[in-house]
Amino acid sequence: MTVERFQQGLLDWFDRAGRKHLPWQQQPTPYRVWISEIMLQQTQVTTVIPYFQRFMADFPDLEQLAAADTSAVLQRWAGLGYYARGRNLHRAAQLTLERHGGELPPRLADLIELPGIGRSTAGAILSMGFGIRAPILDGNVKRVLARYGGIEGWPGQGAVLNRLWGLADALTPDHRVGAYAQAIMDLGATLCTARKPDCPACPIRQDCHAYRTDSTARLPTPRPPKSVPVKTCYLLALRDRSGFVYLQRRPPTGIWGGLWSLPEFADRDQLELWCRSRGSAPTNLETLPPGRHTFSHFILEYIPITGQITTVPRVEEGSDTDWRDPDTDTALPTPIRRLLQRINSNPQEYP
Ligand code: SF4
Repeated sequence: MTVERFQQGLLDWFDRAGRKHLPWQQQPTPYRVWISEIMLQQTQVTTVIPYFQRFMADFPDLEQLAAADTSAVLQRWAGLGYYARGRNLHRAAQLTLERHGGELPPRLADLIELPGIGRSTAGAILSMGFGIRAPILDGNVKRVLARYGGIEGWPGQGAVLNRLWGLADALTPDHRVGAYAQAIMDLGATLCTARKPDCPACPIRQDCHAYRTDSTARLPTPRPPKSVPVKTCYLLALRDRSGFVYLQRRPPTGIWGGLWSLPEFADRDQLELWCRSRGSAPTNLETLPPGRHTFSHFILEYIPITGQITTVPRVEEGSDTDWRDPDTDTALPTPIRRLLQRINSNPQEYP
């Protein structure tokens, strides 16, 4: 049967070629498996090994981890990155002490209630720490199973993920569950790699859809490109006769936090209303070609408007508004500095 051939092929390969000397594979208690699994998220095995050893020396069991100061735990975590993992680990240890008397619970539903433990990590703790049958589906296993089962679609989509979990469950054996979990993770990490899978050496190639159809480069389906939202605003460049520009200091948080910038408006009506509310109807507003600036999560499209008003807004000493010479060392965002340089260098075009 295909399922048995898959399981046997993988376990035989693991016995021959799998990794068996990693520190967390020695005395694989649920606690040690848990710590290693959290450390291995988004981090290479070779990086994790010394961190794991130092962590175990300082916090050899769950009770000592729960009793430690958060700062001591994070200090041991320093350099591994993703500090939320370290904080969750510490919090989960404390909750385990409260709820389960200091031992990780041998039940999926209880494990995934703990901070930082998802279904796949829980599956690894159950299978490798307790010897209880439970499927796992970390990033490497998703890749193996998408290729092996020919599962199309980005694994970040719920329906695709459900199919992968279904396959992971169907292929998980009832025996040697810890070795199987380690084997399928190893296969993904060493043979079924993202860029250059070594299919000729793979123990499950006979039934692998991607291998048989030459589609390893296509599977798993990559994440669809994100459409970046575009936010539009109007920026008002008011200048006085000596070339000083009316600036506002932005709030400390948000884009360009704490820098000086031009007054910003959602639409032109608001902009004109603002001018009138400061005692003068704008008479010579000119709209300039729009500019764009790309932030990490959106694109800002700004429409600059220049002009003069007969009564300039007064500013209070020390307030968050000011008339300033933009050529001095005022802390301006780069796109705003460039925009003002363009306006200044071309007063004919930008009155
Ligand atoms: S045959 Fe190739 S694509 Fe299929 S599981 Fe093995 S390494 Fe991955």
